[in-house]
Amino acid sequence: MSITVTSLVKHFDNFAALKGIDLDVRPGEFLALLGPSGSGKTTLLRILAGLEFPDAGTLTIDNVDVSEQGARDRQMGFVFQHYALFKHMTVAQNVAFGLRVKPRKDRPSRTEIDERVDRLLQLVQLEQLGDRYPTQLSGGQRQRVALARALAIEPRVLLLDEPFGALDAKVRKDLRRWLRGLHDEMGITSIFVSHDQEEALELADRVAVMSEGRIAQIGTPTEIYRNPANAFVCEFLGNTN
Ligand code: ADP
Repeated sequence: MSITVTSLVKHFDNFAALKGIDLDVRPGEFLALLGPSGSGKTTLLRILAGLEFPDAGTLTIDNVDVSEQGARDRQMGFVFQHYALFKHMTVAQNVAFGLRVKPRKDRPSRTEIDERVDRLLQLVQLEQLGDRYPTQLSGGQRQRVALARALAIEPRVLLLDEPFGALDAKVRKDLRRWLRGLHDEMGITSIFVSHDQEEALELADRVAVMSEGRIAQIGTPTEIYRNPANAFVCEFLGNTN
């Protein structure tokens, strides 16, 4: 799916969180939004998800204007930090959740849901743990459950807000390799928020570096690293070239 954002502006009271964002995301691309805290990354992701609405600008998905649509109609899967797993539900019930709450006409049958959950648990390599509760899992396993839950609705776009934020370095590295493989295998378009440049530069096809509500530079990791567009990007990357 291609996503086009044009002149997107978002205020919170008098504060301009996004000051005019133009962005083209190509089908199948893995894009990272990188930048310091407060630069607008999460706000942009939440607008893409339909959880927040812009004050001005448009958002099109495969050339259809979805600016007025809510999250439910956009067929996007998301893994946000505050979208924690449901503690009172098993792993399998968490993964099935997005399917069970679909309107009746779109809801798969109980057998279809069970089959899909089994497939997803295999995909995230947790097939033995369907009956456990989230508190019985490690941090990395929980993140994989959150991903399986996001993938259950068969999204064409996957939005991830610091999905590995709370994990230690070794687990992060393993999970990001695995996530990149999953993205390639499923042919989805993924957008990923990070403040960790190593993570963004390793995982993404292109990186958008954000600063104070604007995109300071967008390009492949190599382009950005070799040719920072301005002093901000240069300093943010700690690039001494
Ligand atoms: P980032 O993800 O890059 O850290 P955010 O998009 O979360 O940045 O936030 C950008 C700016 O908008 C911050 O200054 C933040 O305080 C402000 N902001 C975000 N959400 C809200 C909100 N719901 N109400 C008021 N201010 C907000």
